[in-house]
Amino acid sequence: MKLRFFLIEMLITFVGILIIVVASTNIYYQNSLSNCEDTLSVYVNQYDMNTYSFDSDGAIALSEKLDSARVTYITLEGVVVGDSEVSDLSSFDNHLDRAEVVDAIESGVGIDVRESTSIGKVLIYYCAQVDTASGTALLRIAIPTSSALNIFSKAIPTIIIFLAFDTLACAIIAFLLVDHVLKPVELIAHDASIGKEVKSKYSELAPLCDILNSRNIEIKDKINTIKENKKIASIVLDNMEHGIIILGPNKKIALINNMAKDLLDVYDTLDEVFFFKQDDEISEIISEKNNTLVYRTFDEEVYAFRFSFMEGKSICLITNVTEIINAQKSKNDFIANVTHEMNTPLTSIKGFAELVSSGVMDKEKVVHASEVILEQSNRLTQLIKSIINYSSYESNDLPSYDVNLSNIIQSSISSLEPAASERGIVITSDIVENAIIKSRTERVQEVITNLIVNAIKYNKEKGMINITLHNEGVLRILEVKDTGIGIAEENKDKIFDRFFTVDKSHNKATSGFGLGLAVVKKICAQANWKIEVESTLGEGSLFRIIFK
Ligand code: ADP
Repeated sequence: MKLRFFLIEMLITFVGILIIVVASTNIYYQNSLSNCEDTLSVYVNQYDMNTYSFDSDGAIALSEKLDSARVTYITLEGVVVGDSEVSDLSSFDNHLDRAEVVDAIESGVGIDVRESTSIGKVLIYYCAQVDTASGTALLRIAIPTSSALNIFSKAIPTIIIFLAFDTLACAIIAFLLVDHVLKPVELIAHDASIGKEVKSKYSELAPLCDILNSRNIEIKDKINTIKENKKIASIVLDNMEHGIIILGPNKKIALINNMAKDLLDVYDTLDEVFFFKQDDEISEIISEKNNTLVYRTFDEEVYAFRFSFMEGKSICLITNVTEIINAQKSKNDFIANVTHEMNTPLTSIKGFAELVSSGVMDKEKVVHASEVILEQSNRLTQLIKSIINYSSYESNDLPSYDVNLSNIIQSSISSLEPAASERGIVITSDIVENAIIKSRTERVQEVITNLIVNAIKYNKEKGMINITLHNEGVLRILEVKDTGIGIAEENKDKIFDRFFTVDKSHNKATSGFGLGLAVVKKICAQANWKIEVESTLGEGSLFRIIFK
């Protein structure tokens, strides 16, 4: 920038100087010519035909009078008849071709400037008609002068000196000017680059400041938006239940979220996933870019690693599939259990039906067979009802409302008392009044009925059942205590499993299917109620539910 300014400045001043020098040379030249002409016209008037003879002697005499100006006498025919500086007149050629001579013959006076061929100097010739003793002739007086070129060449050293000063001056001015012009621009650029509001005392720079300020605001807004988006993205990534890892083309980590970090023990300092490196199958998947799904187990939890590849990047999505696998397993177990439970009564029904249809049985046996078929059919019906009931609690999407727990317990006791009496069992109760919980009546009924039915079913003849409901702070605590057969320690956890029964003789029409407590467990889990069991084999059991 400075050099550019300097060169432009130099060019302008150089051209300016040149024009001035040429113009002033011309003026000076014209001026000196006109001075010479005036001098020479005065000189011509000094001639007097009586004083100065019209030959070389007369020319020399006149020349002395005219400060040694060269004097030449020429006839109207162009013949030189006298000259103050050249004595050998034969050396002169005819002067009719000289411009001043031609003009003098035509108009009386002629002037010319040129280098003299005879004396080798630049002369200004002034030629005029004069009277001589032998008639009209031409008197030519010449004095040395400078040509325009001479004048110009004389000015060259001055021009050079001037140019040297000019160069220095231009350099200083360029430096100061550029510095002066650029300083505010540099200041603006600096302020803009650090995001400061840009101002300038120069009104010419105001539009630039406005543009930079509005650009800076736009950039700030965009950066804020990007930061915000990045923050949201990292919040989403770090809080999602899936793990995500993106590897660059060099297998280095481009992105990893917290779940994946925690699962695979990846530290912020690491740029590679060590687990991927040491797992041959996964290494191969990444190297060969196979869109594949593999499963790996960590702390008894099963994770699916789904690999996909795009734009040179490897993307790995990690999902905990333990629940899905368990659910699938549970579903398979359930189907197997249902099939097994149905198999017993169906085999019995089929066997007796075949016997009856064969016609070989006597009447008494046919009656017995028919009773077994009826009994097993009822059991089958009961099993299907239990399964449907169990399945109906699969989802919990119906709304909850205020349920009077005390009333439901009281009415359950009332409806089950006859069944207890049949076995001589006495039910006592101590129920706090109007205990309200958020649930649904049929769910609460299901839980309480199951517990009381079991307390009757697994009680001893003439046993006792004690049912209490009391408050502990915000909690409502229900206890169903019986004096029954009790539960062995090793079965305490299993009794809540589907189809688990301590008594395996499922062929008994009265024995349960092991779905009652499974339903209780499911309802409690969905409502976040806690269920506890205390039991001593042969002495009795206590089932406690803590309603929250
Ligand atoms: P079911 O009664 O239909 O067999 P449950 O799921 O209600 O199924 O009970 C599972 C098992 O738990 C029962 O078979 C029984 O062995 C045991 N059990 C449940 N309640 C009691 C109780 N109050 N006393 C002793 N054993 C019980």
